[in-house]
Amino acid sequence: MALKKLVAGNWKMHGTGADLAEVTSISLAAETAACDVALCLPATLVERGVRAAPGFAIGGQDCHAADKGAHTGDISAAMLKDAGATLTIVGHSERREAHGETDADVRAKAEAALAAGLQVILCIGESLEIREAGQAVNVVSAQVDASLPASSENLAIAYEPIWAIGTGKIPSMDDIAEMHGALRQRLVAAYGDAGNLVRILYGGSVKGSNAAEIFAVPNVDGALVGGASLKAADFLPIIAAA
Ligand code: PGA
Repeated sequence: MALKKLVAGNWKMHGTGADLAEVTSISLAAETAACDVALCLPATLVERGVRAAPGFAIGGQDCHAADKGAHTGDISAAMLKDAGATLTIVGHSERREAHGETDADVRAKAEAALAAGLQVILCIGESLEIREAGQAVNVVSAQVDASLPASSENLAIAYEPIWAIGTGKIPSMDDIAEMHGALRQRLVAAYGDAGNLVRILYGGSVKGSNAAEIFAVPNVDGALVGGASLKAADFLPIIAAA
Protein backbone atom coordinates (compact mmCIF):
# COMPACT_ATOMS: atom_id res chain seq x y z
CA MET A 1 0.00 0.00 0.00
CA ALA A 2 1.42 3.39 -0.96
CA LEU A 3 1.41 5.96 1.82
CA LYS A 4 1.08 9.68 1.13
CA LYS A 5 4.64 10.93 0.94
CA LEU A 6 6.18 13.41 3.36
CA VAL A 7 8.91 15.75 2.17
CA ALA A 8 10.51 17.43 5.17
CA GLY A 9 13.25 20.03 5.05
CA ASN A 10 15.93 20.20 7.74
CA TRP A 11 17.52 23.63 7.86
CA LYS A 12 20.08 22.55 10.49
CA MET A 13 21.97 25.62 11.84
CA HIS A 14 21.02 27.80 8.90
CA GLY A 15 18.58 30.64 8.62
CA THR A 16 17.70 33.96 10.22
CA GLY A 17 14.75 36.27 9.83
CA ALA A 18 16.11 37.26 6.43
CA ASP A 19 15.27 33.77 5.15
CA LEU A 20 11.59 33.73 6.11
CA ALA A 21 10.60 34.59 2.54
CA GLU A 22 11.83 31.10 1.58
CA VAL A 23 9.55 29.57 4.23
CA THR A 24 6.60 31.49 2.81
CA SER A 25 7.37 30.45 -0.79
CA ILE A 26 7.71 26.80 0.22
CA SER A 27 4.47 26.90 2.22
CA LEU A 28 2.56 28.34 -0.74
CA ALA A 29 3.82 25.56 -3.01
CA ALA A 30 2.86 23.02 -0.34
CA GLU A 31 -0.80 24.05 -0.58
CA THR A 32 -1.16 22.36 -3.95
CA ALA A 33 1.39 19.57 -3.48
CA ALA A 34 0.43 15.91 -3.79
CA CYS A 35 2.58 15.13 -0.74
CA ASP A 36 2.76 16.46 2.82
CA VAL A 37 5.48 19.08 3.25
CA ALA A 38 7.19 20.33 6.41
CA LEU A 39 10.19 22.46 7.35
CA CYS A 40 12.24 21.78 10.48
CA LEU A 41 13.74 25.15 11.36
CA PRO A 42 16.27 26.30 13.93
CA ALA A 43 14.41 26.85 17.23
CA THR A 44 14.92 30.62 16.97
CA LEU A 45 12.87 30.66 13.76
CA VAL A 46 10.01 28.31 14.66
CA GLU A 47 7.59 30.94 15.93
CA ARG A 48 8.41 33.41 13.14
CA GLY A 49 8.16 30.59 10.61
CA VAL A 50 4.68 29.75 11.83
CA ARG A 51 3.70 33.42 11.50
CA ALA A 52 5.22 33.67 8.03
CA ALA A 53 3.45 30.50 6.88
CA PRO A 54 0.20 30.02 8.83
CA GLY A 55 -1.21 26.52 8.60
CA PHE A 56 2.01 25.07 7.24
CA ALA A 57 3.86 22.33 9.17
CA ILE A 58 6.86 23.84 10.94
CA GLY A 59 9.04 21.63 13.10
CA GLY A 60 12.03 21.65 15.40
CA GLN A 61 15.21 19.63 14.92
CA ASP A 62 15.60 18.12 18.40
CA CYS A 63 13.99 18.25 21.83
CA HIS A 64 14.97 17.33 25.36
CA ALA A 65 13.43 14.20 26.87
CA ALA A 66 12.30 16.14 29.94
CA ASP A 67 9.36 18.52 30.06
CA LYS A 68 11.27 21.26 31.87
CA GLY A 69 14.10 21.63 34.34
CA ALA A 70 17.73 22.58 34.84
CA HIS A 71 18.95 21.93 31.28
CA THR A 72 20.68 25.10 30.12
CA GLY A 73 20.43 25.61 26.38
CA ASP A 74 17.97 22.78 25.80
CA ILE A 75 14.43 23.01 24.50
CA SER A 76 11.53 20.76 25.46
CA ALA A 77 8.93 19.30 23.12
CA ALA A 78 6.28 21.29 24.97
CA MET A 79 8.22 24.49 24.20
CA LEU A 80 8.38 23.62 20.50
CA LYS A 81 4.66 22.92 20.53
CA ASP A 82 4.04 26.21 22.35
CA ALA A 83 6.01 28.04 19.62
CA GLY A 84 3.65 26.54 17.03
CA ALA A 85 5.67 23.53 15.85
CA THR A 86 3.70 20.46 14.82
CA LEU A 87 6.65 18.09 14.49
CA THR A 88 10.27 17.53 15.39
CA ILE A 89 13.24 15.54 14.22
CA VAL A 90 14.94 13.36 16.87
CA GLY A 91 18.12 11.29 16.65
CA HIS A 92 19.73 13.00 13.67
CA SER A 93 23.23 11.58 13.15
CA GLU A 94 24.73 15.03 13.72
CA ARG A 95 23.21 15.01 17.21
CA ARG A 96 24.09 11.37 17.85
CA GLU A 97 27.72 12.19 16.89
CA ALA A 98 28.24 15.72 18.23
CA HIS A 99 26.12 15.33 21.38
CA GLY A 100 26.70 11.66 22.14
CA GLU A 101 23.02 10.77 21.87
CA THR A 102 22.38 7.04 22.29
CA ASP A 103 19.45 4.98 20.99
CA ALA A 104 17.97 5.13 24.49
CA ASP A 105 18.23 8.94 24.50
CA VAL A 106 16.57 9.08 21.09
CA ARG A 107 13.75 6.83 22.21
CA ALA A 108 13.16 9.03 25.28
CA LYS A 109 13.10 12.16 23.10
CA ALA A 110 10.64 10.52 20.71
CA GLU A 111 8.38 9.58 23.63
CA ALA A 112 8.54 13.14 24.96
CA ALA A 113 7.72 14.66 21.59
CA LEU A 114 4.78 12.31 20.99
CA ALA A 115 3.48 13.01 24.51
CA ALA A 116 3.62 16.74 23.73
CA GLY A 117 1.47 16.17 20.65
CA LEU A 118 4.20 16.55 18.03
CA GLN A 119 4.78 14.32 15.03
CA VAL A 120 8.22 12.74 15.16
CA ILE A 121 10.80 12.07 12.46
CA LEU A 122 13.22 9.60 14.06
CA CYS A 123 16.55 9.29 12.23
CA ILE A 124 18.82 6.27 11.88
CA GLY A 125 21.68 5.47 9.53
CA GLU A 126 25.08 3.86 9.21
CA SER A 127 28.64 5.15 8.79
CA LEU A 128 30.69 4.42 5.67
CA GLU A 129 32.81 1.97 7.66
CA ILE A 130 29.74 -0.07 8.57
CA ARG A 131 28.41 0.08 4.99
CA GLU A 132 31.76 -1.12 3.60
CA ALA A 133 31.88 -3.92 6.17
CA GLY A 134 28.55 -5.18 4.82
CA GLN A 135 26.86 -4.54 8.18
CA ALA A 136 24.54 -1.66 7.25
CA VAL A 137 21.24 -3.54 7.44
CA ASN A 138 22.16 -5.28 10.71
CA VAL A 139 23.39 -2.13 12.41
CA VAL A 140 20.52 0.11 11.27
CA SER A 141 17.95 -2.57 12.18
CA ALA A 142 19.41 -2.78 15.68
CA GLN A 143 19.42 1.02 15.90
CA VAL A 144 15.75 1.26 14.95
CA ASP A 145 14.74 -1.55 17.33
CA ALA A 146 16.43 0.29 20.20
CA SER A 147 15.12 3.78 19.29
CA LEU A 148 11.43 3.18 18.55
CA PRO A 149 8.85 4.68 20.91
CA ALA A 150 5.98 2.55 22.24
CA SER A 151 3.40 4.03 19.87
CA SER A 152 3.64 4.28 16.11
CA GLU A 153 1.01 6.99 15.90
CA ASN A 154 2.44 10.27 14.54
CA LEU A 155 5.76 8.56 13.93
CA ALA A 156 7.91 8.62 10.79
CA ILE A 157 11.44 7.30 10.54
CA ALA A 158 14.21 8.61 8.30
CA TYR A 159 16.97 6.39 6.97
CA GLU A 160 19.97 8.65 6.46
CA PRO A 161 23.30 6.98 5.66
CA ILE A 162 25.81 9.25 7.40
CA TRP A 163 28.18 9.11 4.43
CA ALA A 164 25.43 10.42 2.11
CA ILE A 165 24.62 13.51 4.19
CA GLY A 166 25.83 16.68 2.51
CA THR A 167 28.28 14.76 0.31
CA GLY A 168 26.40 14.46 -2.98
CA LYS A 169 26.75 10.65 -2.71
CA ILE A 170 23.71 8.42 -2.45
CA PRO A 171 23.32 4.64 -2.10
CA SER A 172 22.22 2.62 -5.11
CA MET A 173 18.47 2.29 -5.52
CA ASP A 174 18.87 -1.43 -4.73
CA ASP A 175 20.60 -0.58 -1.45
CA ILE A 176 17.85 1.89 -0.53
CA ALA A 177 15.21 -0.74 -1.38
CA GLU A 178 16.98 -3.35 0.72
CA MET A 179 17.29 -1.04 3.74
CA HIS A 180 13.74 0.33 3.55
CA GLY A 181 12.38 -3.22 3.16
CA ALA A 182 14.31 -4.30 6.26
CA LEU A 183 13.06 -1.25 8.17
CA ARG A 184 9.47 -2.03 7.17
CA GLN A 185 9.93 -5.52 8.64
CA ARG A 186 11.27 -4.05 11.89
CA LEU A 187 8.30 -1.66 12.09
CA VAL A 188 5.81 -4.50 11.55
CA ALA A 189 7.64 -6.62 14.13
CA ALA A 190 7.35 -3.73 16.61
CA TYR A 191 3.82 -2.49 15.88
CA GLY A 192 2.01 -5.21 13.93
CA ASP A 193 -0.12 -3.97 11.01
CA ALA A 194 0.29 -0.38 12.21
CA GLY A 195 3.93 -0.68 11.21
CA ASN A 196 2.77 -0.55 7.59
CA LEU A 197 1.43 2.97 8.20
CA VAL A 198 4.70 4.46 9.49
CA ARG A 199 6.36 6.53 6.77
CA ILE A 200 9.98 5.66 6.05
CA LEU A 201 11.80 8.68 4.63
CA TYR A 202 15.13 8.57 2.85
CA GLY A 203 17.65 11.32 3.61
CA GLY A 204 21.13 12.19 2.37
CA SER A 205 21.90 14.33 -0.69
CA VAL A 206 18.33 14.33 -2.01
CA LYS A 207 18.03 16.85 -4.87
CA GLY A 208 15.62 17.73 -7.62
CA SER A 209 17.71 15.63 -9.99
CA ASN A 210 17.53 12.37 -8.00
CA ALA A 211 14.24 12.71 -6.09
CA ALA A 212 11.95 11.00 -8.61
CA GLU A 213 14.19 7.95 -8.82
CA ILE A 214 14.42 7.68 -5.02
CA PHE A 215 10.66 8.16 -4.55
CA ALA A 216 9.99 5.29 -6.96
CA VAL A 217 11.78 2.81 -4.66
CA PRO A 218 9.41 0.53 -2.71
CA ASN A 219 8.92 1.60 0.94
CA VAL A 220 10.32 5.08 0.33
CA ASP A 221 7.54 7.26 1.72
CA GLY A 222 9.22 10.62 1.40
CA ALA A 223 12.47 12.42 2.09
CA LEU A 224 14.32 14.35 4.74
CA VAL A 225 16.20 17.06 2.88
CA GLY A 226 19.03 19.19 4.25
CA GLY A 227 20.94 21.51 1.91
CA ALA A 228 18.35 21.44 -0.87
CA SER A 229 15.59 22.63 1.48
CA LEU A 230 17.15 26.03 2.20
CA LYS A 231 15.99 27.67 -1.01
CA ALA A 232 12.53 27.29 -2.50
CA ALA A 233 14.11 27.01 -5.96
CA ASP A 234 15.95 23.84 -4.88
CA PHE A 235 13.21 22.39 -2.66
CA LEU A 236 10.18 22.82 -4.91
CA PRO A 237 11.39 20.34 -7.58
CA ILE A 238 11.73 17.69 -4.82
CA ILE A 239 8.18 18.41 -3.65
CA ALA A 240 6.99 18.17 -7.25
CA ALA A 241 8.68 14.78 -7.67
CA ALA A 242 6.81 13.27 -4.69
P1 PGA B 1 21.50 16.73 3.01
O1 PGA B 1 21.15 16.48 4.56
O2 PGA B 1 20.21 16.68 2.24
O3 PGA B 1 22.15 18.09 2.98
O4 PGA B 1 22.44 15.63 2.60
C1 PGA B 1 20.14 15.59 4.95
C2 PGA B 1 19.99 15.56 6.45
O5 PGA B 1 21.03 15.59 7.15
O6 PGA B 1 18.88 15.50 6.98
